[in-house]
Amino acid sequence: MSEAIANELRKRGLKVTPQRLAIMRIVQKQGHYNGEQIYEELKKTEPSISLSTVYNTLETLREAGLVNSFEINGMKWYEARVEPHANVYCVDKNEIIDMEVDASSIINDMRNKGAEVKNLNIVVYAECSKLKEQK
Ligand SMILES: [Zn+2]
Repeated sequence: MSEAIANELRKRGLKVTPQRLAIMRIVQKQGHYNGEQIYEELKKTEPSISLSTVYNTLETLREAGLVNSFEINGMKWYEARVEPHANVYCVDKNEIIDMEVDASSIINDMRNKGAEVKNLNIVVYAECSKLKEQK
């Protein structure tokens, strides 16, 4: 897994550093993390790391297209899933879940107007306790 991450970093012209590898390993584990959570996780193995290093590394990874970030109530969240989807913030459960969306009409519409979509973030605030069970 580390070798795969290292290859992804190199492919995007980034140097492979222990911090970048460690952060990618964390965000690939599951859904969504804020900077503080990644920092807390990282401190277990790299006690000398600082919060600003974590944020700087996350920004580098985001610019390289390896992580996506979005904001909910002013807090920045990060995820390894970079293909378009909606991040649904469950206001009643204080959770973030992924939802499949077809963003192709937006992307095509922009392309037809001559602009390439660089980043597309859909954040939905919803009451998830009312969501019907998905089969
Ligand atoms: Zn997501």
